[in-house]
Amino acid sequence: MVRVSSKAKLKAGVAGKVVLTILIGIIAVVALVLASYKPVYSVLINGEFKGYVSSKNNLQSQIETYLREGEGDNVGYILLNTRPEYEFSLVKKDIVTKDEEILQLVKNECDVYYRVYAINVNDEEKAVVDSLDAAQQIVDKVNSATKKFTKKASVVVSEKYQNELDVVDDLELAANDIIKPLKAENDELVTKYQTYTVQKTVPQSVLDSLREMESDLNFGLPLTSYVVTSRFGWRRMGYHTGIDFAASIGTPIHALEDGVVTCAEWKGNYGYLIKVQHTGGFETYYAHCSRFACNVGDEVKKGDVIGYVGSTGNSTGPHVHVEIRYDGSYFDPATMLGEF
Ligand SMILES: [Zn+2]
Repeated sequence: MVRVSSKAKLKAGVAGKVVLTILIGIIAVVALVLASYKPVYSVLINGEFKGYVSSKNNLQSQIETYLREGEGDNVGYILLNTRPEYEFSLVKKDIVTKDEEILQLVKNECDVYYRVYAINVNDEEKAVVDSLDAAQQIVDKVNSATKKFTKKASVVVSEKYQNELDVVDDLELAANDIIKPLKAENDELVTKYQTYTVQKTVPQSVLDSLREMESDLNFGLPLTSYVVTSRFGWRRMGYHTGIDFAASIGTPIHALEDGVVTCAEWKGNYGYLIKVQHTGGFETYYAHCSRFACNVGDEVKKGDVIGYVGSTGNSTGPHVHVEIRYDGSYFDPATMLGEF
C-alpha cells in the first residue's frame, strides 16, 4: 500500500485550488470579452481597409455568385481584378459590419463584359444592338432597301463583348442611318454612269447623218463563224464598250472595212489590240488577239486578215472584242454592222 503523507495531500489540494481559480478567471475574462466584443473579419481591397464583415464565407459565396451569374441583361463574363483580403479581428459589439457595402465595393472592382451584336457594313461597324434578333431585323431592313442598288454592300453581324451596354433601341432609325449613305453612293454611281455614257457615246442622230455622209463605209464582220457572247451596254462587270465574238484561239480576224492600221500592240485590259483608222473619223478596235498579222501603217482592205483570236488581257475566254469609235467616242457597233 502506498502511503501518502498528509503534507503531500495538502500540497495537492492547494495546487488544485490554484488551477481552478485560474480556469474560472479565464472563463470570466472570455465571458467578459464575448459580452462586449465580437469576432469579425476586416476586409482589405488593394491593401486598403474597407470595413468589417460578419462572415467571410458568406461574402465569398456572394462574390462567387455575382462572378458566375452577373446582374442584369447581356452579361457575358465578369473579371475580378483584385480579390479581397481578410483578417480575423475582435471588435467591440457596437461596431457595425458592412456586408452589403463591401460586396458592392468588390463589384465595383470588377470589369463587366456585355455580350452585344454589331452590324458591320463594308467592314465598318455601323450599329450595336443587344440581341441577335434585333441585329437580324436591321439587316433585313437594309437588305430590302438596297435590293435594287447597283453597288452591293456587305452587311455582316458579329458577336462582341464590350464594357458598356451601350446599344441602339430604335431599330428603324439605325437601319435608316445605314441605308442613307448607301443610297447616296448608289445614286452617285447611277449619275456618274449617265454622264459617262452621255459624254462618251455618239447619239444615234449623229450616227445616221454620218452614215449618209460616209455612204461608202460598209462595215463587215470580224469572223466568218462565231458566237456573240456579249453585246454593247451595261453589264454586271461594268460598261461593255463593244461586242464580243467568240471563236477558238487562232481563228483569223478580218478588217471590218478599208483603212490604215494605227495600233498593233499590248494595251492593258485589251491585251494585244489592233486599231484600224477608216475614213470620216471612224476607227475599229480588235482586242484580246493571240497574234498580229499586220503592222502599224499597213493599208488594209475590208476582209483582210489582220490578226488571230486569242484571250489576252482581261478576257475570260477566246474571243475578239470589237469596237467602232467615232472621233474617239464609242457607240453600239451593232448600229453599223447590219445583220449578225
Ligand atoms: Zn468585250
